[in-house]
Amino acid sequence: MERFTKSKKMVFPREIIVGHNSTSQIAELCDRIGRGNSVLIVADKKTKKLAGDEISKILSKANYDVKMKMISSPTVNEVNRVIKYGHKNNINLMLGVGGGSVIDVTKLSAYELSKPFISVPTSAAHDGIASPRASLKHSKGSVSKTAVSPLAILADTKIIRKAPYRMLASGCADVISNISAVMDWELAYRLKNEEFSSHSAVLAKTAAQLLIDHADDIKPDAEESVWLAVKAMIVSGVAMSVAGNTRPASGSEHMFSHMLDHLGPGIMLKGKRHKRPMHGEQCGVGAIMMVYLHGGDYEKIKNSLKKIGAPTTSEELGVSKKKIVEALVRAQEIRPERYTILGETGLTEDAAKKLAKTTGVI
Ligand SMILES: [Zn+2]
Repeated sequence: MERFTKSKKMVFPREIIVGHNSTSQIAELCDRIGRGNSVLIVADKKTKKLAGDEISKILSKANYDVKMKMISSPTVNEVNRVIKYGHKNNINLMLGVGGGSVIDVTKLSAYELSKPFISVPTSAAHDGIASPRASLKHSKGSVSKTAVSPLAILADTKIIRKAPYRMLASGCADVISNISAVMDWELAYRLKNEEFSSHSAVLAKTAAQLLIDHADDIKPDAEESVWLAVKAMIVSGVAMSVAGNTRPASGSEHMFSHMLDHLGPGIMLKGKRHKRPMHGEQCGVGAIMMVYLHGGDYEKIKNSLKKIGAPTTSEELGVSKKKIVEALVRAQEIRPERYTILGETGLTEDAAKKLAKTTGVI
């Protein structure tokens, strides 16, 4: 028998608090984490008002030395500014109070500073609130970077409920897209002998299934929808921690989404300018098509997205049909080393058109 040489590292959040008014527990949470007195809150203009100020007040009352650093966008520059500030002020613990961008900037700067961080989401637009990966914007789209899982997550459903419903629906679509991501991973395991974790795959699918099963309950102005969505996102994040990579939550549907980002904004449809589609919305539409390619039940994905109120067509997404087809054709260029149903060379234009039409996306 061959000698056993396998070794693996997994990093998980230590404590997760989700629910109504959980913000009030922030000081006790920091006490239990016990990393020191100097806390840095990272927020943006909006999330400062929404939760940052309140958290700062609670922590100051509990004798923490609280500083706040405001950021404006998820860029390398902003990450560097936070790192510099963290160094100068001898920070012990960081709190990312905000949406995906704020949390991603905090995650990356905490990683560089080797400081623990708490994820305090004020919206739930994608699964990054609990994952070890972060994405940053640059001139040609976005790039995904390795960071570390939050040491703790504190998700106040009362606050997240106040965010636009569109964000929550997009976050749900991001988690539902785990279905195609896991199919891609299984394929890569079979075809390329890629390392595969069945535990991670089961967790990622469970998170998606939770939202598919509860699609009827996920609706605007219901705090319970936030509860379900955040729970699923946390399970999705744990799946990534178990895998040690984003495989369980990011496959061909994410490549399609990243290619749409890469192809650029300024999306025009019938002369009207639409709001830029969100990450999870694009991944949801991508998942419909990729599950079809896998021979899976794409109607189930589509119906769940519809029930939740996430886009299922190019029109709802606000992207032209031409761009959908182009993104399908070029999607595998995003991460050629990550094997998916798109294969090594991707779809032909005719196949892409047929796929988008058959699934009702265009
Ligand atoms: Zn995603």
